[in-house]
Amino acid sequence: MHTNNLFAQKTVFSFEVFPPKRDMPLTAIYETLRALSSLRPDFISVTCGANGQGGNRTVEVAAAIKNQYHCETAAHMPCIYLTEKEARQTLEALHQNRIENILVLRGDQTPGREPAHVFEYASDLISFIKKEAPNFNIIGACYPEGHLESKTPAADIRHLKEKVDAGADELISQLFFDNSLFYRFLERCEIAGIQVPIEAGIMPVTNQKQIERMVTMCGATLPIKFQRAIAKYGSNPAAIQDIGIAYAVDQIADLLANGVDGIHVYTMNNPYIAQKITAAVKNLL
Ligand code: FAD
Repeated sequence: MHTNNLFAQKTVFSFEVFPPKRDMPLTAIYETLRALSSLRPDFISVTCGANGQGGNRTVEVAAAIKNQYHCETAAHMPCIYLTEKEARQTLEALHQNRIENILVLRGDQTPGREPAHVFEYASDLISFIKKEAPNFNIIGACYPEGHLESKTPAADIRHLKEKVDAGADELISQLFFDNSLFYRFLERCEIAGIQVPIEAGIMPVTNQKQIERMVTMCGATLPIKFQRAIAKYGSNPAAIQDIGIAYAVDQIADLLANGVDGIHVYTMNNPYIAQKITAAVKNLL
């Protein structure tokens, strides 16, 4: 099923997982997939390392979600190191495994490794797929607080509009902790004429290191009430996990009350957290 068709019927609720490391058997993730799919999300997306490692595993995990656990899925497909031949091979593997949704990304450069310079931006791969294999539903990434490399917020929105014009059928946002920034972003999208559904990306933080990493990696603003909670309970892992879940639930409830198109939970392969959040918001969906 094309996930973009769901938005006309309901508020979409989806999860993200990452494949097991190469030195682990694929079966290492099966219990997680079983637990997550039993929560009946609308789909589960599977990340893919941009530097080419883990590509096959992304297809395998997405195939397991779809064909073994009977849940809709989307495979991430970063393009910074992709050649046309590899892109065609991946599209063929996805098709063979009945995977219909692709989250197309540029990915980030690995220090010291020159990009392939075949698909410079996500929109280049989106155009390629729309031409070569138009039956796929294409998802793109977006950034409520702007992408870190963007020169101005206006340039970021302009490039996002190009991504949608290239063929992105829906968007999933980078994580954020301040809903007001997301609402402002939605307004800018509307003004720019971006009309595809936009899911809000929610990361339930579970430990202090993870919070610090997220803020450095994507520049997300941490609201003062969240900073205070982290400062007070940072050395207490159980308390931080409770705060992370409570904060995510509070964010989601507000987003749903404000009529967002969908919620995409970055589960970090943690079914316990996904289960707690789903139980808390399922009556709001
Ligand atoms: P693009 O849309 O190509 O944009 C990258 C930058 O270039 C932006 O600053 C944009 O404004 C600018 N730009 C775009 N077009 C042009 C143009 N024509 N001229 C000049 N500038 C332009 N990474 C992974 O490696 N694997 C994953 O599985 C993964 N999953 C993700 C899932 C989500 C929901 C999100 C939000 C991010 C994910 N990422 C993943 C991270 C992503 O790869 C990085 O954020 C990356 O830096 C940008 O990817 P993009 O697809 O948004 O890039």
